[in-house]
Amino acid sequence: MTEILDIAKKDGRWTECPSCSEIIITAKLRDNLWVCPHCDHHFRIGSEDRLAITCDEGSFVEMEPVPLRSEEQTPVSEEAVKGGRALIMGQQCILGVMDFTFKGGSMGVAAGQAIVDMMHGAQRKGLPFVIFCASGGVRVQEGIWGLLQMLRTVHARTQTINVPMITVFTDPTTGGVSASFAGLADIMIAEPGAKIGFAGPRVIEATMSCTLPPDFQDASRLMTNGFIDMVVHRNRMRETIAFFLKWFCQT
Ligand SMILES: [Zn+2]
Repeated sequence: MTEILDIAKKDGRWTECPSCSEIIITAKLRDNLWVCPHCDHHFRIGSEDRLAITCDEGSFVEMEPVPLRSEEQTPVSEEAVKGGRALIMGQQCILGVMDFTFKGGSMGVAAGQAIVDMMHGAQRKGLPFVIFCASGGVRVQEGIWGLLQMLRTVHARTQTINVPMITVFTDPTTGGVSASFAGLADIMIAEPGAKIGFAGPRVIEATMSCTLPPDFQDASRLMTNGFIDMVVHRNRMRETIAFFLKWFCQT
C-alpha cells in the first residue's frame, strides 16, 4: 500500500498535506483552491495557479517583458514575479504575483524592474496595484545589485504614493521583500499560517540567545501586533480584494 501511495504521490495524482499528513487527491485539492480539506493548511502555490484562482477567467494580460541590457540576466517572463492587467470580480487592477518555486521568489534586478514597472504602469493607467508576495528576500547571487532592488522598489513606491496598493502576504514572505515595498501598501492582507518576517527564527534565536514563541512571525500574531490589517482565508480572498478595489474607485 505504501508503495502505491509513493507512486501516486510521485506522479502528482495524490498530494500529502505537510501539516496533517493526510493524502489528498490532487484534483480535489486544486478544486479546493489548494487548501487542505482536513486541516485548512494553505499550500504554497506557483504564479500560474495563483493567477488562475485570483483573476476573472481569461482577464489577465501580462506586461511586455522589459528588455535587459545584460544577456546573462533572466528575461522577466521567466522571473520570480509575473505582472499584468487583470480583473478581479469585475474590478480592474494591475496584478503582480510572486512565485516561490522560482529561485525562492527572490528579488533580483529583473524582478525589481518588474515591480517598479507595475507601480508606474498602475499610476499611468489610474488603476490600483495588487501584489501577492512569496519570497525568501533579495537574490543574494546578484550581490549588491540584488540589494539595490530594495531601494529601487521603495523609491518607486514613494513616486507612486497616490496609487492605491494592496499587499497579500503568502507563505513565506521574508527578507528584503517584506522589508521593502511589500510593507508600504495601503492595505496589508495575509493568508492564514503565512510566515512573514525578516530574518528566520533560528538566526534570531542564535543571535539574541533566546527562545521564540512557536507562533513567531505567524500571520495571526502579526495581525495582533498591528503589522498587517487582516488574515483572509483563500476562499474569501477574491471577494475581499474586489471589495477594496471597488472602495478605492469610489474614494
Ligand atoms: Zn492538512
